[in-house]
Amino acid sequence: MSNEEYVSPENCPLCNKANDCGNLSNSNKPCWCMDEKFTFPESLLNQVEVAAKNKACICKPCALKHKAR
Ligand SMILES: [Zn+2]
Repeated sequence: MSNEEYVSPENCPLCNKANDCGNLSNSNKPCWCMDEKFTFPESLLNQVEVAAKNKACICKPCALKHKAR
């Protein structure tokens, strides 16, 4: 049994900090990433490791940092 492929859905795949994903909490509020003001361009998504894709959310600071560039 190997945990090598395990990706924590609670941590941002880019900075490894808590991503605050609302989809994981038991609350009914939608995740901040569902806000249409936020976009995740291809160039940002490409920085995410293949193993983490569709498993872990990028956190808000990372998304904002990318947008500011
Ligand atoms: Zn992050």
